[in-house]
Amino acid sequence: MEPVILVVEDEQILRDMLVQHLGQEGFAVAQAVDGQEALQIVEDICPDLIVLDLMLPKLSGWEVLKSIRQQGGVPVIILTARADEVDKLLGLELGADDYLTKPFSPRELTARIKAVLRRTHISSAVASINIGNLTIHPTRMEAVVGGHELPLTSTEFKILLLLAENPGQVFSRLHILERVFGDMYEGYERTIDTHISNLRHKIDSSGASNFTIKTVYGIGYKLVAEE
Ligand code: CA
Repeated sequence: MEPVILVVEDEQILRDMLVQHLGQEGFAVAQAVDGQEALQIVEDICPDLIVLDLMLPKLSGWEVLKSIRQQGGVPVIILTARADEVDKLLGLELGADDYLTKPFSPRELTARIKAVLRRTHISSAVASINIGNLTIHPTRMEAVVGGHELPLTSTEFKILLLLAENPGQVFSRLHILERVFGDMYEGYERTIDTHISNLRHKIDSSGASNFTIKTVYGIGYKLVAEE
């Protein structure tokens, strides 16, 4: 079955263009013209991905995103015309999966949608991952050690999930960026080091002793499970 994409955009010309283009690309497309309608449609049809404009009548895209995130993990790609909104997006970790600044080409949006669907399908393909006393629930975005949930940010969670799904495999910083953020943090490979450092600290203080995230000098990181 083709993935269902919900396009939330109040500018009719842009919305029509996106709906038509995504339809031609083989997606099933639903549309909403304001924030309230968006939430109603999300509840009615459970889309596979939402393309969400931030400046909307009735409920803003921010409010829609917050509400969607309280309900679950449907991927969201944000559309915005303003650079300062992008800063806010990156800073708040509200859980958008990618964003595009206007103007953008429909082809670019399609590429981003496919990339996000690929990432999220990989992550939700299994119910849980167990490494020693660590259990990861991808759909709930929870990592549990010895009955206690690790207090991870969404970014730390995504990195841990990626490494834990592929124990022993080395991931370069660039690869981690692409898999975790799409193109959102392009050019900031070193931000991965900070996230890894925070993640290690949280894992260490959780009492997990049966795996480590190792630095592979000059390349990146891998998760090593101990016997
Ligand atoms: Ca708008």
